[in-house]
Amino acid sequence: MMCAFCRQDVINPCHTVQEMQQRAEHHIDRCERAFAQQGGSHPQSASSTESGTGRRR
Ligand SMILES: [Zn+2]
Repeated sequence: MMCAFCRQDVINPCHTVQEMQQRAEHHIDRCERAFAQQGGSHPQSASSTESGTGRRR
């Protein structure tokens, strides 16, 4: 199957950003690169949950 994040044909492709991120932490080379291209340590979904609190600092 083609991984949407890594753009590589692998047996178990990443299904979510989190999954890709976990593999990057485990030093899976293809996912490390994909994670870096996604924009590093701040996934887009994190900011939406954070704004739900209404106030930061
Ligand atoms: Zn992947």
